[in-house]
Amino acid sequence: MELKKLGEFGLIDRIARLASRKHPSIIQGIGDDAAVLRLTEKESLLITTDLLTEGIHFETSSTTPYLLGKKSVAANLSDIAAMGGTPLYYVVSLSIPPRTPYEFIQKLYQGMRAQAQQYGAALVGGDTTASAAPITISIALMGTARTGTVLYRHGARRGDAVYATGFLGDAALGLLMIQKGKALSGRNRLIRRHLDPVPRVEEGKAISRLRLASSMIDISDGLVADLRHILEQSHAGATLRLSRLPLSAPYKKLCKTFSDDFYVPALCGGEDYELLFTVPPRKRHAVETWARTLTIPITHIGEITGNSGKLKILDDRDREVAISKRGFTHF
Ligand code: ADP
Ligand code: MG
Repeated sequence: MELKKLGEFGLIDRIARLASRKHPSIIQGIGDDAAVLRLTEKESLLITTDLLTEGIHFETSSTTPYLLGKKSVAANLSDIAAMGGTPLYYVVSLSIPPRTPYEFIQKLYQGMRAQAQQYGAALVGGDTTASAAPITISIALMGTARTGTVLYRHGARRGDAVYATGFLGDAALGLLMIQKGKALSGRNRLIRRHLDPVPRVEEGKAISRLRLASSMIDISDGLVADLRHILEQSHAGATLRLSRLPLSAPYKKLCKTFSDDFYVPALCGGEDYELLFTVPPRKRHAVETWARTLTIPITHIGEITGNSGKLKILDDRDREVAISKRGFTHF
C-alpha cells in the first residue's frame, strides 16, 4: 500500500504495531510528544526527535542557516515542553550535499546553540553523511521530568476547559506571506513567527509543576489536528469557539490579504509551537492566577465534551461551522 493512502498518522499506527515488546521501564512509547522512560523511582527520561528536510520544511532561499538551526532545536524543545519536561542533551544528524559551504554549517550550529542554551540543553553528538540532493537535519533531544507530573495527550475529561498559550495562526500566515513573495525583515512579526518560533519550555514546566492540566500537546500540526490527538487519546470530544481564538494584532490586520478564510490559519496552520492543554474545573482559578504572571496570553478557547471523537467548532452566533482542511499532515 502506498504511504499516501495510509496517511502520516496511519503509518505511525502501523509502525507502533511493529515496535518491540514493552519493556517495564517504558511508561510511554510511540504515541505522545516524547517517550517517557523510568530512570529512578521519581524521575523519567524524555526522548523526542524531529526532522527538517529541505523542500518540505524549509527553503534555503527564504530563511537563514542561523534561523534554521534555531528552529530545528525549537521543534524538539517544544515536544519536551509538551510533556512538562526539562531539556538536557541533544544530538544532531546531518545529511548534506558536498557543495554546501562550511559557513552554512557554522551558522546552523550557532543557531542551534543559541536556542538550546536558553533552556540549558547541550549538544553531545550526532552523525554526518553526504546527501545526493536535499539538506536534512534530524535532531533528538533528551530531557527529564518528575514521573508523577508528566503530562500526556490522554487525560482530558468531560467538563475540562481547553486552553492555548500565545497566539495561533501567526506562523501559518507568515508562511503564506513567504510563499507570496514577502521576505524576512525584522519588522515582520508573522514571518518571524514562522522562521523563528519560541518553544514554551518554561510555560510547559510550570503547567506540569503546578499540576494545572489534565492533558497537554504542542501545536505543531495545527490546533484542530493536535486537539484531535488529545481527543482520540482521551476518548473525549470538544467544542471550540472561533470568537475565543487568540489572534495577534498583525494576524487580524493581514489575514484577509493572505488567506481566503479568516480562521483557517489559526485553526489548521502548523508550526506555532504553542501549548494546548486541558484544565479541570477545580484548577481554572489557579490557571488564571498563573496566567497573570506571564507576558504571553493564556486563552480559554473551548471545552472538553463527552462526545467521543467529535470536535464541534462554533462561530460567534453559536452556529456550528465545518472546516475544510484538517491541518498539516504528511503523505
Ligand atoms: P510530534 O508532532 O509531536 O513530533 P508526531 O506526530 O511526529 O509527533 O509523532 C507521533 C508519535 O509517533 C511520537 O511518539 C513519535 O515518536 C512517533 N513516531 C513518528 N514517526 C515515527 C517513526 N518513523 N518510527 C517510530 N515512531 C515514530
Ligand atoms: Mg509534538
